[in-house]
This record gives sequence, structure tokens and C-alpha cells, in this order.
Amino acid sequence: MNLFHISAECYPVAKVGGLADVVGALPKYQNELGHDAKVVVPGYDNKFTNENVFDTVHQGKLRLGQFIFDYTVLREQTNKLGFELYLIAIPDLFNRPNVYSYDDDTERFTAFQIAFLNWLTETQQRPDVLHCHDHHTGLIPFMVANCYNYQQLQGTPTVLTIHNGQYQGWFGFDKLHYVPDFDRSRTGFLEWNGIINPLASAIKCAWKITTVSPSYLDEISENANGLENLLRYERPKSIGILNGIDTIVWNPKTDPMLDHHYDLKNFKAGKAKSKKFLCEQFDLNPDKPLFTFIGRLVGEKGADLLPQICSVALNYNPGEINILILGSGDTGVENALNGLKHFYPGYYNCYIGYNEKLAHIFYAGADFLLMPSRVEPCGLNQMYALRYGTVPIVRRTGGLKDTVLDIGDGGFGICHDQTSVHDVNYSITRGIDLFNDKKHFDEVRQTAMKIDHSWDKAAEHYIQLYQSLTY
Ligand code: ADP
Repeated sequence: MNLFHISAECYPVAKVGGLADVVGALPKYQNELGHDAKVVVPGYDNKFTNENVFDTVHQGKLRLGQFIFDYTVLREQTNKLGFELYLIAIPDLFNRPNVYSYDDDTERFTAFQIAFLNWLTETQQRPDVLHCHDHHTGLIPFMVANCYNYQQLQGTPTVLTIHNGQYQGWFGFDKLHYVPDFDRSRTGFLEWNGIINPLASAIKCAWKITTVSPSYLDEISENANGLENLLRYERPKSIGILNGIDTIVWNPKTDPMLDHHYDLKNFKAGKAKSKKFLCEQFDLNPDKPLFTFIGRLVGEKGADLLPQICSVALNYNPGEINILILGSGDTGVENALNGLKHFYPGYYNCYIGYNEKLAHIFYAGADFLLMPSRVEPCGLNQMYALRYGTVPIVRRTGGLKDTVLDIGDGGFGICHDQTSVHDVNYSITRGIDLFNDKKHFDEVRQTAMKIDHSWDKAAEHYIQLYQSLTY
């Protein structure tokens, strides 16, 4: 099948979170199944764009209301990511280093989607399926079905994957004219609660909706930042497909970001070396259990509770545990986490910022990974942790519920029900007990490393979903 994945992120081109990991992996696995899956992302001014060679495959102009922008479609020359990668360069809007958080994000991502559809129509392409990821590409299903400019694409199946339903890309009706001309009686398909809502629009217009785990599909019918009723209504065309992980990128035996490699056979020694290396860098005690957190420092991840979780755990278990945090986000949380360094030298540390290599070293060197998330559509961190023999400590929600089984039930993780200081600390205590029971700890880590979370199954599942739309 001829497929396009359209997204704001794609690892290693541009990454903010799990969306990038999924879009950087799923198409590769679909191609291994014999399909032709391509990826289209905006052309940011970043390391990947500057260090790789691209061919210009198309140039055009796009109209965004009263503005006209030039756009260029670039194709990465070598297909080294395992798929054809296309960047849509709109210099006025994307010639910047970051993916999001600019005042004109509405203009940026609306223009990106228009450029993509202009390119397809101007070059008479007719893919089998357009697979849109999150709200940044949420206007595509509406535009394909309704805009006069894209009539030749009408009837092309569209699929929306919701990686995170909290962010919806809202903008006001004063910008309705950004959307290329369409029959105004269809305006309701863009709207939710009185404003234009690209995610809601995609939920209404896409032929199929997927969420990145089955449990998340259940949860967003109850709690989806205002979209619950809509999601409940569209449930018949929705399905939860658990994400996989790229087991080529995330392999402790070959990971180029690690100094010490290991596999199932020598994981004890390999992890011990990785832990020592990590503890040396952060002035921690490698003989004590090492609890880590990696992620965006936002409320969804329970990050606002981290400072208190850390101080309670470190006060309650003085000199008995290490805690190490890697993340960035809310400034108040960042400052509080930095502040803790002075209170627990030798047992607590943090790195505030985004650092891909360090994340790999954390997964390899840690004993435990904390994920006290309030919302976790799938969560990749726990799957990376498992693959690297690190025991996840998770709140039972979304994808965490679908992927982590508690050691009390013969599983390989530690689970709690609430995002609360008390629940996490109780789990940390269970973690310390597990760490001290060496035999059980090793068995649990071994079981964890054996779990297969590769993309093979999910890639096939998506193909079946597309086929149900085209045949
Ligand atoms: P989300 O997409 O909600 O942020 P996921 O668990 O789906 O969460 O994916 C998070 C991805 O981002 C993982 O690959 C994780 O290792 C990575 N990550 C998050 N924060 C950081 C950071 N500060 N430094 C390096 N990698 C990070």
C-alpha cells in the first residue's frame, strides 16, 4: 500500500516526545511488510536538516488567508531511516529550531497541512491512505473531504492516531479563512465548543481513529479535555492499538549511546557497569538502589509531585536510595528539583534539559524508573526501561496499565493506583525490598528484558486497518 504518515515530529528528524518515536519507527516496520510508507514533516532549522542531504522534489505556493507562502518539498536522498522522508520547507514559518511553542503555531501547522495537500494535488498523487498524527495534522481529514482545491483527493481514506488528546490545536473563527474554500454548510465539522478544534475535526472526519493503547481509548471516553462526548459518539470507528518500540534503536546490546553493552546473558554485569558510570557522573552511590524519572516535567506526568516524592523518599530512607531525574518543562518544577540537590548531596541529582543520549544511559544504568503519570496514552519509557532491564514503577493508567504487570501478580513492575506522594512512596519502599531480594530482583529483570514490545504486531494491525478502508 502507498501510505503517508503526516506528523509534526519524527525521530531522529525532530523529537519532543513519544510521537517522534512512533512516527520514526512504525513506517519502517510497515515497509518491512512490503508496503510503501512515507513520512512527511515540516522542515525545521535543526541538526538533522542541516546535516543531511536532500533533493528538491517540488516547489509551490500556498495561500493562508491573506498570506502567500513559498514552500518546497525536500526528500532525504538515502532513505536511511527505512522510509522515504519528506520535509516541507516553509522558510517563513519553520526556519526555526524548535518544533512547537511559537505564537504562530496555528499558522505554521495549518500552512504545513495545506502545503502537503497542495503538493499531492499539484503532482497528481493519489495515496491509498493518509495517516495523520495528533492535532497538528488534524485538519487534513476535513480538507480532503471538503475543500474544492483537493477534490481529486476526495475518497482517500484518512486515519487519525491520537497520541495525546489533551492538546487539540484550538483557534478562533477569525482564522476560518485560513482553511481553503469549502462549502460553508460543512463548517460544523471544524468546530467544537464554539471554536475551531483541529483534533475534534479529525475525530469527526477521519475514517478511522486509533489511540496508542486500548486502555487510553476507554479513558478518553471519560476524560479527554472536553472531547469525551464526541469520542463516545465516534467510538464505533475507533480502536486502540498499542504502540511498539524500535528494537533496533533501543537495544542494550548494540545501543551506540551506551559505553557498556549487555544482553540477557550478561545483564547483571552490564547493568552494574552502566549504573556505576551513571552514578559517577551524578555523584551518587552505586551500591544503593537507583530510582530515576525521565520525561516532560508537566502535570500529565505527575511531575509537579516529584519534588515532594523525592524529599519524602529521601527523608524516609536516609542514605538508602538514590534518585536521579532527567527532564524539562514547568519552570517551577525545574527550580524545585534543582533546589533539592543541596539537601541530599550524594543521593539525589537532576539534569534539567533534553538529552537523548543521557536518556539511553539512564535506562541502562537505573534500577527503577518512576512514572507517576496522571495521563499516559501509551508511554514508551516503561517499554524502553523493560528492554534495558530496569523495573518500571507506574501508576495504573492508559498504556501503563496495558504494559506493566505488578510483581505481586508474577509480573515485572510495581504498580500503584493514584498519582500521589503516598502511593509513589509506598511503591519506592516495595522497590527497595525487591532490590534487597537479589534473586527475585534478577528474575524480575530477566523477565522484563524478555518481553517483546517490537513494532511487528502493531505494524501489521495498522495495515489490516488500512485494508479495511480500501478494499
Ligand atoms: P510523551 O510523548 O508524552 O512525552 P512518551 O513516554 O510517549 O511520552 O515518550 C517520551 C519520549 O521522550 C521517550 O523517548 C523519552 O525517553 C523521551 N524523553 C522525554 N524527556 C526527555 C528528556 N528530558 N531527555 C531525553 N529524552 C526525553
